[in-house]
Amino acid sequence: MTTASLSQELFDRACRVIPSGVNSPVRAFGSVGGTPPFIASASGALLTDADGREYVDLVGSWGPMILGHANPQVVAAVQEAATRGLSFGAPQAGEVGIAEEVARRIGPVEQLRLVNSGTEATMSALRVARAATGRDVVVKFAGCYHGHVDALLAEAGSGVATFAMPGSAGVTAATARDTVVLPYGDREALTALLAERGGEIAAIITEAAPANMGVVPPPVVEGVGFNRFLAESAHAAGALLISDEVLTGFRASEEGHYGIDGKGWAPDLMTFGKVIGGGLPVGAFGGRADLMGLLAPAGPVYQAGTLSGNPLATAAGLATFAGLDDAAYAQLTSASTALQQLVADALTTAGVPHVIQRAGTLFSVFFREDEVRTYADAKAQDTDAFRRFFHALLEDGIYLPPSAFEAWFVSTAHTPEVIDRIAEALPAAARAAAA
Ligand code: PLP
Repeated sequence: MTTASLSQELFDRACRVIPSGVNSPVRAFGSVGGTPPFIASASGALLTDADGREYVDLVGSWGPMILGHANPQVVAAVQEAATRGLSFGAPQAGEVGIAEEVARRIGPVEQLRLVNSGTEATMSALRVARAATGRDVVVKFAGCYHGHVDALLAEAGSGVATFAMPGSAGVTAATARDTVVLPYGDREALTALLAERGGEIAAIITEAAPANMGVVPPPVVEGVGFNRFLAESAHAAGALLISDEVLTGFRASEEGHYGIDGKGWAPDLMTFGKVIGGGLPVGAFGGRADLMGLLAPAGPVYQAGTLSGNPLATAAGLATFAGLDDAAYAQLTSASTALQQLVADALTTAGVPHVIQRAGTLFSVFFREDEVRTYADAKAQDTDAFRRFFHALLEDGIYLPPSAFEAWFVSTAHTPEVIDRIAEALPAAARAAAA
């Protein structure tokens, strides 16, 4: 069989029984075109597809695989846990371990509850915030993704205090009315909104550093970072700040993005996912103990899950945390920095306009000249150049996120040898982008 044939055959079969052939939209390669390789196995920094083709992976399952694929310690922990039972529906020690590990690393987290995805985490945090404040409205920022929660799918409204249109069919108008979308980083817009409608607002939710429109580091104005500004603004209006660290948590730094934001302020609630499950389905939300105390059974906010705190997932998460020591973050930093430099060199040599933005070890590449500060900026890039770059790299065995609006994910398995392999492929891909 030829290279594409098994993946193609699987994709054709998938398209008959799975909508668009995938279980999460970006996997369908919709914005770059072509057939997505079906992955048969993965090890370290490498993926192998159904046809036996090998790729250096820069997706890392969109974040969880921070120690690389099939990390021996993580796999052993999951295997060992599996021999003791797959799910109990009753408390187990691993849940305590994860909550203690998160609380130890992230100061504002006094209590934590585990769920099964980042979406569940933001959905539940929002419910707690609404219960705590007795208010309905949530403020989010255009370009920030918080999972496919109805209330958080709303995209850019046009201007201050514009009620958002539903960002997805199937979201009720009433739900969308309770979501106000502002441009990311726009302090004046937020101040004006709070002056007018502060008493209605339950929470402001933000990605700790937006990474779902590409990476946009929170702007610092006169020494005050955007997240701190949000916390202070929310609190002055009697609202809460939910900092979404599903993507940045334990990746941007050991303490997530919070660790590089400066201390002296705190979000009220935080959400996590990805890294804390080591590749198994996990999310978590946590924060102030008085707020978390509102959860059932002690409090009036109902929230539950058959598989929440699953023993395999907590085993994978704990083994991942065990691997995330100072040496691991040093390795992530050096892989990320080296890759950024190589990409910049290749694109510059080929004359391709680009800007690379970072938040800790997280980074992305925009195919445009100027800094990206907002979703509108992010959308104004040369997505055709990205598409050519993406396919040239894929042909050469480098698997980038199949979208110009995503972070690139390195792992501790991205050793200098692996980075060298990417380096070899970059000049031709940059020339393809320039074409
Ligand atoms: N929040 C952020 C910042 C994310 O990046 C994501 C997913 O990419 C989510 C929430 C949703 O997480 P999940 O896909 O696990 O539902």
